[in-house]
Amino acid sequence: MNHTARPVPVNSVDRVAFREMCAQFARREIGPRWEQADRTRVFPREFLVAAARAGLIGITADESLGGAGLGCFEEAIAMEEMSRVNPNLAVAVLVQNVAGSILYEHGDAGQREIARRVIAGECVVAITVTEPEAGNDVAGLKTTAVREGDHWVLDGMKSFITLGGDADVLVTLARTDPAAGRQGMAFFAVDRNSPGVLATRIETHVNRPAPTYRIHFDKVRVPESRRLNAGFREIMAGFNRERVMVAARWLGHMSHALEWAREYATVRQQFGRPIGANQSIAFQLAQAHVDVEATRHLTYHAAQRWDSGVPVRDLILDVSSAKLFATQAVVRVTQTALHVGGGWGLTEELPAMRLAMDALVAPVTVGSWEIQLRAIARELGLPCD
Ligand SMILES: Cc1cc2nc3c(=O)[nH]c(=O)nc-3n(C[C@H](O)[C@H](O)[C@H](O)COP(=O)(O)OP(=O)(O)OC[C@H]3O[C@@H](n4cnc5c(N)ncnc54)[C@H](O)[C@@H]3O)c2cc1C
Repeated sequence: MNHTARPVPVNSVDRVAFREMCAQFARREIGPRWEQADRTRVFPREFLVAAARAGLIGITADESLGGAGLGCFEEAIAMEEMSRVNPNLAVAVLVQNVAGSILYEHGDAGQREIARRVIAGECVVAITVTEPEAGNDVAGLKTTAVREGDHWVLDGMKSFITLGGDADVLVTLARTDPAAGRQGMAFFAVDRNSPGVLATRIETHVNRPAPTYRIHFDKVRVPESRRLNAGFREIMAGFNRERVMVAARWLGHMSHALEWAREYATVRQQFGRPIGANQSIAFQLAQAHVDVEATRHLTYHAAQRWDSGVPVRDLILDVSSAKLFATQAVVRVTQTALHVGGGWGLTEELPAMRLAMDALVAPVTVGSWEIQLRAIARELGLPCD
């Protein structure tokens, strides 16, 4: 799909009913699964089958591929409601949508068939971009793809790949022409079981239900038919939509944290009255409410502008503002929840610590705080390098 003009979503849905459907799905399919996955760090693959059956993978994809043909706004609602129950199983759906959209927006018939299987829950994909020496600086990636007849040979190392060891297909960005800089990169749909692909775990304190992996490519042969007509430019555009979804993810998570903290401040008694009767506690929760609502407005505004067909280059200010604010606010709101929980908040008997820990990844992924600030500053016309 062209990045400068997007059609308005073809279907219109009752958004209240859609949100309720997403919330019910999250309670039914995420609620009973996430704690075990968090403890064991084993991704429950059947969750993606359930998400596909509920129509939550490929929400914006064309109906001919099994997608829902809806907009960024509906995708954000789904992400918010899933994350309200657990942001780390929700992120598995986000990854399917990001990697899947590269396949269906830029793929030929064979590559779109992989996307169809992703949307149907038959194939798990991972977005395979980051490297040990190329985090925020995606243009600095070193993994190479060298043409040999009707194949390409991939060599290099990727890091922090969510579901990298669980995926069937790794949607991988590699350098095809080192002399051409950013223009000399392409995505490849690499079968994870290909000889020479090795996935090893990176144990993190965050995202534990959807683990991250190092992926080692050692002379991996990939057919030319798996090279996509997409590279650096396309992933940068894709990251912008992902940033709206990331904002929605943390909106759901901070809503959960605030709901929990408000309830706890109402029932927890000290000095003969609820702790929420103290202005100092009540004001922190009032401030958290403002953070949640401000995030909601920025996120929905960015999603609505996206769906109205505004060119991506004119959306940077909206998208980066939403992503930056959401990822700052979720840290503040979850720290407030942790503080309200007192000593019990630090135990495994209450959710406060888990909520705060999960939020710590927010400032880091899909362009850190500094990268969003840089994008905003540039949009303001500042000569920021
Ligand atoms: C849980 C988790 C899941 C992930 N999942 C995926 C995935 O599925 N696929 C994938 O490809 N990647 C994934 N990532 C990678 C993620 O996007 C990177 O971690 C991220 O890009 C940051 O890279 P880095 O850790 O190398 O940090 P660095 O880029 O080294 O940054 C370190 C610090 O320096 C700052 N900094 C860097 N450059 C500048 C600058 N120009 N100006 C000011 N400050 C700067 C940053 O803001 C940050 O504070 C994941 C990461 C995590 C932690």
